[in-house]
Amino acid sequence: MPASAALPATEKKVILVVIDGLTPSMLEDTLERGTAPALALLSEHGRYRRAVSTFPSLTPVCLSALATGAHPDVHEIPHLVWYHRGERRLVEYGSSFGAVRAAGTKRSLVDTVYGLNASHLGHRAVTVYEALEDAGHTAAAINITCYRGRHPHRPTVPFLTRPAYGPSRFFFYNLFESDVTGAPLSVRNRPRGTIDAYATAVGRWLVTRDGFDFLVFYLSDYDYASHAQGPDAAHAALARCDDAIGALVEAAGGADEFLERYAVILCSDHGQTTVGEVARLQDVFPDAIVTASNRAGMVYADGDLAALAARLDGNPAVDVVLRREGGEAVARRDGAELRFSPGAIDGDVSILDHPDGLERAWAALANPNAGELIVSAAAGWEFADLAGRHHSGGGSHGSLIAGDSEVPMLTVGLDVLPASIVEVMPAVLAHFGVAPPPYARRLARA
Ligand SMILES: [Zn+2]
Repeated sequence: MPASAALPATEKKVILVVIDGLTPSMLEDTLERGTAPALALLSEHGRYRRAVSTFPSLTPVCLSALATGAHPDVHEIPHLVWYHRGERRLVEYGSSFGAVRAAGTKRSLVDTVYGLNASHLGHRAVTVYEALEDAGHTAAAINITCYRGRHPHRPTVPFLTRPAYGPSRFFFYNLFESDVTGAPLSVRNRPRGTIDAYATAVGRWLVTRDGFDFLVFYLSDYDYASHAQGPDAAHAALARCDDAIGALVEAAGGADEFLERYAVILCSDHGQTTVGEVARLQDVFPDAIVTASNRAGMVYADGDLAALAARLDGNPAVDVVLRREGGEAVARRDGAELRFSPGAIDGDVSILDHPDGLERAWAALANPNAGELIVSAAAGWEFADLAGRHHSGGGSHGSLIAGDSEVPMLTVGLDVLPASIVEVMPAVLAHFGVAPPPYARRLARA
């Protein structure tokens, strides 16, 4: 019997490892080849399945879904870039350096560091850190952009002045650090994994001190490498993620000690698919506000939405165009339409034949911050961002299609195996005996 059985599962602490942009096929292939010892250790003691992301399958939307257990109808983060109707301006969380410059560098920094959590994240949404710490547990977060909690943390740098409210143990790219760990941060050599090196140093420090009940260990560099090299090609980046997880295992005193002390959920936030062509949605809607980036776009417009959606009929860059009509949602592909609402469906069901297609499309449209139209890109295509940047020749994500939407889901020492990233937060709460928020999915014991 492995030592991991020694402690009752319910008394174990939990580490959520999020490898940004890791595809199921990349993890499965790596496990098969036996080249990643830390991932192999988790796989050997755990259970695995492919699970589904949210829509748009873009990092801030997905990380908010992981942290709140909600789709965007509740967490209200609509995209990497969106139009803030109340403030009549664009919010840009960092599609590219060029897009950030176009939206205003300072404004983007403030939106990403503070705004997402302090004002954009829905008030009905509950974060995993809020729920656990309200129940008396200690939560820790490293680098994850959805971090809202009850504890104010002063910035460590002079160009930020306000505190950020996170969990009691909170580390955010060296800008906020609840504890002095001595971890260095360098953003100068991101392709070589310097952001994750910081996360690893902090994670090692926390595990060494057993300083949490729940930790989000967020590794962002894999997505960056996969955008550049294409999905299923960033082997060196995944090897560094494996080293990072291995460093936590070592800090616990070895495999047996690690597995005895911790339950683990390892997943990604979304997948990635290869892109080779670029479209500019802005050119189709010169009379509207368009926010586009990666493989999803939104159109903020008044008037005849069916006519606006019809402008994209036959456009090779577009898979599906979504809109609301009264109490119904409408999905359109090349003139064919599917109308649906919870409990009712009418039309060509193949239009939303994507993983959790109806649920994700409905939730994306029910977000008050979404555009009147939401556009999901066809395979192989990307939408240029505010600065015209794209990842053509590499990898991208954001659409409803399976390659962008499927994520690996590996759990060790947990009663449930989440089928969606929105089941991760309620699964963590269930492990600690904390009631899920009312909007959360019911979990199936597996
Ligand atoms: Zn991501």
